[in-house]
Amino acid sequence: MIVRRRWAAAATAAILVSGVLSQPVSGAAAPAAPRPTVTLASGETAVVRVQLRDQAQLDQLVARGADLANRPRGADGRVLADLVLTGAQLAELTAQGATALQIVQRAGDGARNFADSLRAAEARTKAGLRAPAAGQRTADASAAATDTLQFLQAYWWTSGGQTFVQTEVATTATDDPDVEITVSWRTADGRTGSFPLFRFEDSGEYQYHYALPQPVPAKPVQVTATSSLGGVTRPVTPTVWPNAAPPPLPEGYQKDFIDAYLTPVDIQARIKRLARQYRDLVDVIDLPYRTQGYRRTAVAYLGDPAASAIVVESVRFGDQKMNGVQVRSVDPGRASRPLGVSYRDRVLTVSLATDAAGAVTSTTDQVVAAINGRFGDRFQAFVEDGSAGLPMPVAGPARLDDGLQGTEVPTKPWTVQALRIGVHRDGSKIGVLAYSQEHAREWATPLVTLEFAERMLANSRTDAATRELLEQVDIFVIPTVNPDGANYSFHDYNFQRKNLVNHCTGTSRDPRNRNSWGVDLNRNYTVGSYFDGYVGGSGNCLSGTYSGTSELSEAESRNVIALAREHSNIRFAMNVHSYGGYFMWPPGAYKADGRVTLPRPSIDESKLFLDSARRIVGAIAQERGTVTWPSQTGPVADVLYSAAGNSADELYYELGIFAWDFEVGNDRWNAATGQWEGVGFQPPFDEAHGESQEYAGGLVEMVRVARDYAAAQDG
Ligand SMILES: [Zn+2]
Repeated sequence: MIVRRRWAAAATAAILVSGVLSQPVSGAAAPAAPRPTVTLASGETAVVRVQLRDQAQLDQLVARGADLANRPRGADGRVLADLVLTGAQLAELTAQGATALQIVQRAGDGARNFADSLRAAEARTKAGLRAPAAGQRTADASAAATDTLQFLQAYWWTSGGQTFVQTEVATTATDDPDVEITVSWRTADGRTGSFPLFRFEDSGEYQYHYALPQPVPAKPVQVTATSSLGGVTRPVTPTVWPNAAPPPLPEGYQKDFIDAYLTPVDIQARIKRLARQYRDLVDVIDLPYRTQGYRRTAVAYLGDPAASAIVVESVRFGDQKMNGVQVRSVDPGRASRPLGVSYRDRVLTVSLATDAAGAVTSTTDQVVAAINGRFGDRFQAFVEDGSAGLPMPVAGPARLDDGLQGTEVPTKPWTVQALRIGVHRDGSKIGVLAYSQEHAREWATPLVTLEFAERMLANSRTDAATRELLEQVDIFVIPTVNPDGANYSFHDYNFQRKNLVNHCTGTSRDPRNRNSWGVDLNRNYTVGSYFDGYVGGSGNCLSGTYSGTSELSEAESRNVIALAREHSNIRFAMNVHSYGGYFMWPPGAYKADGRVTLPRPSIDESKLFLDSARRIVGAIAQERGTVTWPSQTGPVADVLYSAAGNSADELYYELGIFAWDFEVGNDRWNAATGQWEGVGFQPPFDEAHGESQEYAGGLVEMVRVARDYAAAQDG
C-alpha cells in the first residue's frame, strides 16, 4: 500500500508480525514447532519475511533502493521487514546478520496461482455453479517506582476459534531504551499468563510499547502492566474489538462473483458486462487521462555488456514498428575511414573509423555521439556502464526489442474506467469512491472492488435493503488504477509495483533495470509529497517509491483526482491495497525533521474515522472471522508510517473526503507454530478469493456509513 516510514524507500502495507515476537504464553496452547529452514536459490526472487540485524541494516537496504513489500516494524532493537529479494541478496543479508523467517511468496507462485485460479473457475463452470518472551519479568517490588504506566489500548477478540489479546502501554520513562514492560492477564476462570511488550520508536521518537496479538485460552477479564522501573498500571478490563457488527445478511443475499484472478483485459470485460446487465443502475465513466499503454521502447546491446558495449534504444515504442530493427557495427575494411552511421531497410549500421594501417579506432563514446547526432530523432544510444572510453567492438547485428512477453495485451494507450452505480446518478446523493490496484502486483485488490460492485447490483433486485442503499448513495468504483503495470505484473514480472512509464535517464535506462522502472502512483500526489520534503517517497527512478518527475506527473494519478473533483458529492473513499491487514486514515505523511505530520483531523472527524472504522472492520470479520488488529487500525501517523504524496491524503486535505486505506490480506495465525504468517501479493487463489469476499463486505459497510452520515447531515 502506501506505507513508508522514516526509512525513505519503497513499501506498501505495513505489518508487524514475527515469529520472533510471538513468545510462548503460559496458559495458551501452541508449543512452538521448529521453524522450517528458509532457502532460496541464488537466481530466484521471492518476498521474504526477514528479521534484520538492526535499524542500520534496514537503512542501508533502503538507501540502496530495496523493494520493501510491506511496512517494516521495529521492536526492541529488532526490525522485521518483508522484502522482495533474490537468493543472492538474501544470502548477502544473512551473512550480515539477518535471519530469514518466512518465504511469503516466490516469483513463480504468481503464475502458478493465476493458472490455478483459472482451472478452479473452469471446474466451477463445468459443475454448473455460477460463474462469476522472554518470560515473565516481575518488577522489583522493593524499588520505588520511577515511571508511570498507562494503557493506550487493551483489546481482545476471537478469530478462527482462538482468542487474542493486544495491548499498547506508554511509560513516562520515554528516554530509557532499556525499560522493560510486561503485561499480565487473567481470565474469568482464574487462568493467568503474561507476555513482554517491545519499545516502539518512530523517526527517533518514542511512541509506546506494544506486542503482536497474543493467544489466550479465553476472554481476558483483566490486564495489568508492570515495568522494570517499578511502574504498575491500574488493572484494566480489555474491551472487545471491534465491537461492531453489520446487519446480518438477509436470506438469499447474493455474493461470490469472483472465480479467478482478473487481468486488466478481464476487468474491462467485467465492467462492460455489468453495464449491460444493470443498465438502469450503471454508468461507465471513461477517465480523462489515457495511460502510456502496455508498451516500452525497443532496445539492444551492441557489443558484450561484460566487456565493451553500447545500448541502442528506439525513441518510439517497440510496437510502433521498432521491434526487430537491427543494429550493427562494422569494420569498413579500408584504411583511414571516418566514423559513419547509416539507417536503411530497418538496419542501423555503424561503420567504425580506421587508422592509416586499417585498424579500427572508434570508441564507445564516439559511436554513441555519432548515432545520436545523426539519428537522434529515431534512436537514443548510451555507453553501457563500465564501457566508457573503451574501443568499440565490431558487433551485431542485434535486434531491438521491447522485451514485453504479453501477447494478447492491447498495446494502445489504455482508457481507465470507473463504474458509477446507483439509482440517482446525478450528484444529488452522497458519493463513495472505491479504487484499487494503484500498485500493479496487488492482484487481490480489483477482486475486492468488483465483488463489491456486483453485490450491490445483483442484490438491488432481490434485497430491499440493498435497493434502499442504492437509492441513497452514489457509488464510484475504479477497479484498476494502474492497468499497464498490472499487465506487466501478469505477463512479465509479477512483483511489479509501479506503472510502466520510464523516466530514467542515462545508464539507469539499461535494460537490466527493466523491472525497476516506473512511478509509484501512490507517491505521485500533491499533498505532503516528496517534492514538499515529506518522508516516504524517492527521487530515484529505480526506487520502489519513486515519486515521478513532479506532483501528478502520471496519467493514472491524475485520473483518480479528476474523478473526485468532477463529482463533488463524493465524501467517502477507500484506497484498496494489499497486503498485511491494515485500515488507516490521514494524516499519512510527516517530515523527518521533528516528525511533523500533516494536520490532524479535528476531534469530531477523528471520532467519525474511528467509529466508522470499527463498523467496517466488524463487517470484514463477518465473512471468515478475519480481525484487523487494533494496532493496525488508526491514523497512519499513529499506526506509524509516512507515505509522502499518497492519494488518501490528497482526497482528504484537498477535497474534504473521508479517505481510508485498506491493506487486504491479513496475516494468518498458524496455531501449529504459534506464528503470524504473511500472505503475499498473489496468494493461492483460495486466499485471494477469501480476501475479496471479506473486504467487499467492508466496502458495503462503507456505503452504509455514508448513508448514515448523509442522514445525520440532513437531520
Ligand atoms: Zn499498495
